[in-house]
Amino acid sequence: MSDLASFSLPHVAKLHAYTPGLQPGESGWLKLNTNENPYPPSPRVAAALLGEIGPNGASLRLYPSPTSAPLRSVLASHHGLKPENVFVGNGSDDVLNLLVRCFCAPEAAAGFTWPSYSLYPVLVEIQDGRAITIEFDRTMRLPLEKIAASEAKAFFLTSPNAPTGVGFANAAIEKILTAFQGILVVDEAYAPFAEENTVSLLARHPRLIVVRTFSKSHALAGIRVGYALAHADLIGLLDRVKDSYNVSRLSQVAALAALGDTGYYDTVIGRIVKTRDACVREFATKRGWFTYPSQTNFIFTEPCDARGQTGPGVARALYDFLFARKILVRHFPSHALTAPFLRISVGTDDEMHVLSEALDEWQKQKPTPA
Ligand code: PMP
Repeated sequence: MSDLASFSLPHVAKLHAYTPGLQPGESGWLKLNTNENPYPPSPRVAAALLGEIGPNGASLRLYPSPTSAPLRSVLASHHGLKPENVFVGNGSDDVLNLLVRCFCAPEAAAGFTWPSYSLYPVLVEIQDGRAITIEFDRTMRLPLEKIAASEAKAFFLTSPNAPTGVGFANAAIEKILTAFQGILVVDEAYAPFAEENTVSLLARHPRLIVVRTFSKSHALAGIRVGYALAHADLIGLLDRVKDSYNVSRLSQVAALAALGDTGYYDTVIGRIVKTRDACVREFATKRGWFTYPSQTNFIFTEPCDARGQTGPGVARALYDFLFARKILVRHFPSHALTAPFLRISVGTDDEMHVLSEALDEWQKQKPTPA
């Protein structure tokens, strides 16, 4: 073993990298593990990409717009804002990383709830920053007084939350915005599947930053575009710390094409929401599994085995059972509140039917001796 890693800063040597969901190399998997959209993007996306590449890819010689200016402008009108209120990043992970870079250090804490998106603590560690964690209880009700009273310079709230799928009312988020003294980042990766979102609160609350992505609702996880909506002064901070050309030419073109086809996406999102609601009913009513109401494109459910038992071991056993049938879901075993659950992304109706048959088979299995 070389000791080359010891040249790094001590906090980098100790870093725990983010663990993304599995992306199997071979086909044949039913992928319900990373909340991707089960439908393809608007056909306009492929057409725009082919148009941009042209017969010989000549446009790829040229750098993209460094600020993604045309995309900012269309996003601004899409949300009823001005271009100076929009920042575009290489996926919303990039935007979140830049926000942590702006607001977090050993002397400036970043706050987040737990459970929520497990990337936040990793980003704080990269920055050698201080983290403030506020825990949910099993009700998953928003601990708004604790958030409001926290000393975080910036607080990252996932709404609707991941991995639970639970949505938070604007009225509750507005209470935080009124009482909390720092910057509130609302990570709305899943908001297009929810009843409410906080974009309308931007006009009244200059310390609010809304983060969005094209990965889920717009079926473009592979193209890596995310964005932030905020007061121009906060957008200005992100512009100071970003990479020079942080969003590729093809990514900008794809996102612009997607934004031009709202009718297509309204249909896709409507379909996912309908499938989701039917699956939540199936888990909760037909199977009798405790399942949080979902405002997202995934479902967080606590499976019971044939003996009616729940728990981390049961969730793991079902994960393994599905894995053996090439069905991928997600298990978060490291926290007591999440370990008895599985997170299942919403697929097409046909895909959810395949899952449902596998679950029937599992529930009929002869109980293993306790
Ligand atoms: N926020 C949340 C809550 C997420 O679950 C994800 C996806 N894992 C992201 C942000 C990042 O999405 P992307 O980088 O693909 O935009």
